[in-house]
Amino acid sequence: MADDLVIARGPFPDLDGFDQARDADATASSTDLSSRFVVDDPDLLYLDGNSLGRLPLAAVDRVAEVVRHEWGGRLIRSWNEGWWDAPTRIGDLLAPVVGARPGEVIISESTSTNLFKLAVGALRARPGRHAIVTDDLNFPTDNHVLAGVADLVGEGTRVVTVASPDGVHGSMDALLAAIDGDTALVSLSHACFKSGWLWDVGAVTAAAHEAGALVLWDCSHSAGAVPVDLAAHDVDLAVGCTYKYLNGGPGAPAFAYVRTDLQDDVANPITGWWGHADPFSFDLDFTPAVGIRRSHVGTMPMLSLLGAEPGIAMVAEVGIEAIRARSVALTTMLVDLVDVHLAPLGFTLASPRDPARRGGHVSVAHPEAWGVTRALLAEAGVVPDFRAPDVVRLGLSPLTTTFVDVHTAVGRIVEVVRTGRHLVHRDDAAAVT
Ligand SMILES: *Cc1c(COP(=O)(O)O)cnc(C)c1O
Repeated sequence: MADDLVIARGPFPDLDGFDQARDADATASSTDLSSRFVVDDPDLLYLDGNSLGRLPLAAVDRVAEVVRHEWGGRLIRSWNEGWWDAPTRIGDLLAPVVGARPGEVIISESTSTNLFKLAVGALRARPGRHAIVTDDLNFPTDNHVLAGVADLVGEGTRVVTVASPDGVHGSMDALLAAIDGDTALVSLSHACFKSGWLWDVGAVTAAAHEAGALVLWDCSHSAGAVPVDLAAHDVDLAVGCTYKYLNGGPGAPAFAYVRTDLQDDVANPITGWWGHADPFSFDLDFTPAVGIRRSHVGTMPMLSLLGAEPGIAMVAEVGIEAIRARSVALTTMLVDLVDVHLAPLGFTLASPRDPARRGGHVSVAHPEAWGVTRALLAEAGVVPDFRAPDVVRLGLSPLTTTFVDVHTAVGRIVEVVRTGRHLVHRDDAAAVT
């Protein structure tokens, strides 16, 4: 009976590409850190590292210590024993991962909130200009926040949304045509959440500066997978998540970057006491802190913040260039396997083919993408993402995904479609996709 059918789990040594995958794992073993993460189910292929990275073993110990010893034992004294400085200490730990200098990165609130703070600050630093340029490959929260910022700032401020020609690639020509003397801010995702399209940070930043505008990059899907080189490209402002490739934990606070020479000019519109020059003076007049601390708002969630430190430390330890090399090799192998094994089953590549323009994930489109995703989750031990309307996103978190994992996942996708299990799951319901 069809419902008793068990999807073959592999590995699939007879499926083309297996030997190459096995050899690649042997060659790249120094950047395979999977043994330093919690893996409860070794059969599970977790290809969702770009939405929620795996749990570092070191974070298990660290969070337990913070809860039991620092909160339980030291209580309020812990603020002077490492908590107060944690947002800038961990920001400095993250700085080299995104190419920033010390004192330019702070861990603070969420990505959405940081985007709001920096976008308002940027617009106020460019008075007389009325346009925020973004694109339709951006993550919706970015578009929503930028629209809200334009509305709040008023005075005819508007958002100009550049269209992608195909929903996969960004168009540099269309972007350049949209940037002019009225542009106050250009704000884009470095790696786009759906297709993985990677904007050229240097070229876009230079074009924005040429027009007298500021740039604000959202590095949520690149931080920890792709070098960003913020300082080298003279980037003004950036934000990003710590819970994706940085393995910081669900809802872990985000980061904000402000280039050193702009820290006095881009004012934080949420003037909370943590952004005050001297919070413990309890001065009723607001005097902004000097430097990146000005981006603070209020008391930080210490369990989440300190729980994020081990994941960030691991990425910093391996180094972003080595991680990117592994990531490009992983996604390139997956693109090759898609061509050979999945294209004949009706899948099309929904990510850039050029690795230089592709982030750390690979998306494939299929008319039954929802059923494929649900069948993979329910029956095949593969965790991908579904992105409406027809995309299965495969996130290859470099430190925790092996080349054989990628090959095996493709084998399981082949099995699901070959046996028709995706059609059985086409009407499944789920709130979070
Ligand atoms: C994941 C992601 C976010 C998430 O923002 P939160 O405030 O953490 O919910 C924002 N922007 C981009 C580009 C993302 O990929």
